[in-house]
Amino acid sequence: MGLAVLQDSKLYEVAASIVRKLREHGHVAYFAGGCVRDALQGTPPKDIDIATSAKPDEVQSLFARTVPVGIQFGVVLILAAEMEFEVATFRSDGVYLDGRRPSGIQFSTPERDAVRRDFTINGMFYDPANGSVIDYVNGREDLSRKLVRAIGQPSERFAEDRLRMLRAIRFASTLEFEIEAATWSAIKGQVREISIVSPERIRDELLKILVDPHRLRGFDLLDQSGLLAVILPEIEALKGCEQPAQFHPEGDVFVHTRLMLGLLAPNANAAQVMAVLLHDIGKPATRSFDEADQRIRFNGHDKVGAEMTEAVMARLRFPRQEIDLVIEAVRNHMIFKDVRRMRPAKLRRFMARPHFGIELELHRLDCAGSHRDLDNYQFLVNKAAEFSQEPLIPAPLVRGGDLISMGLKPGPRIGELLEAVQTAQLEGEIKTRAEAIEWLKKAIK
Ligand code: ATP
Ligand code: MG
Repeated sequence: MGLAVLQDSKLYEVAASIVRKLREHGHVAYFAGGCVRDALQGTPPKDIDIATSAKPDEVQSLFARTVPVGIQFGVVLILAAEMEFEVATFRSDGVYLDGRRPSGIQFSTPERDAVRRDFTINGMFYDPANGSVIDYVNGREDLSRKLVRAIGQPSERFAEDRLRMLRAIRFASTLEFEIEAATWSAIKGQVREISIVSPERIRDELLKILVDPHRLRGFDLLDQSGLLAVILPEIEALKGCEQPAQFHPEGDVFVHTRLMLGLLAPNANAAQVMAVLLHDIGKPATRSFDEADQRIRFNGHDKVGAEMTEAVMARLRFPRQEIDLVIEAVRNHMIFKDVRRMRPAKLRRFMARPHFGIELELHRLDCAGSHRDLDNYQFLVNKAAEFSQEPLIPAPLVRGGDLISMGLKPGPRIGELLEAVQTAQLEGEIKTRAEAIEWLKKAIK
């Protein structure tokens, strides 16, 4: 049985010892869900969840360090050997009234616990006592056929918890599986209802899909299902937004954005992915035809796009810091075409900003996903190498105190002068403190 990958770890040993202890006290206990799926696939699981007949208070009384993390669902966290294990009592969920969560739960049998889970591949148990897989839902067969199939009647299961639609796409893309036909049509039939789910849960699933190396397949499934249009109508609006063929031989803004997503580094983070996804969302609203030049223009799409980015990311409850970073990347993405004309001081300040790296990568993808002219990108890479021996912004030669001893009063003028003297320094006009003082003396005369 292909579970060697599971047995060969500290995680396994500790989890197996938790199961052993539960059994010694007369309870049934198994590994459950994702870890069984992953282990059967030969993938070491990130964590091991345990399902048991023991009630939460019994679990808490048996183990020294526990946290009742989801007591309404019968879930207790056990802390052991610097690891965490979710131990959940076998349960069946009551009726779902709101498309998000059950109205209540009932403690129940392993079999009923299996069938309340979302997909067959996620519905299996593993018994570390004898190394057997306990499969009430035919999960093994679907696993070997690489199929994401809802347990039970698909449209009912998605109606219970609409988030499962996104989870189906996530498992299909990250595992490189297909979505079984009836499961897929059930999703397509109720995509509009995804908006019942909280924005935070949608965002988390969306990011799991898009931060994974298989993001392009995930994006396509989101698109084909219709979920993309509901969650991110701003991206749907990029379809059919034609661009000048000279700069964008690849096609419309949607095609361009999708192409860039496919070119992202496999390990790209959430901010990089969101910057790619949103960098041109200002285009449909700013599109115009320039009669003089006989060409399409998108004047101000960077600014408008930055405002729209704020709205999209705030709607999905992204953390403030990440929103600000992506807004900045969207707002600045057109500046890159001017870098070769920038004065040294301006260029150094541009490159010294904390998230320049993310913006540079966005620029690279923007070019690679369109005209493929990487001259500006290469110029910046060369500059970065050229500047790498010294800080981009060297230590200041003078400070505010120097200006005060020259007789200036504290106030905004001091800051302006310091910036001006720094510009001269960045331009290479002055190199020493003495030169800076001379420069300032002339400037304040
Ligand atoms: P991952 O690798 O992302 O952790 P996972 O399968 O462990 O995948 P979790 O979200 O950690 O997914 O959930 C653990 C298990 O709980 C799942 O395998 C599944 O059996 C069940 N489950 C999770 N979310 C749902 C849901 N919304 N509806 C039904 N069952 C669910
Ligand atoms: Mg998990």
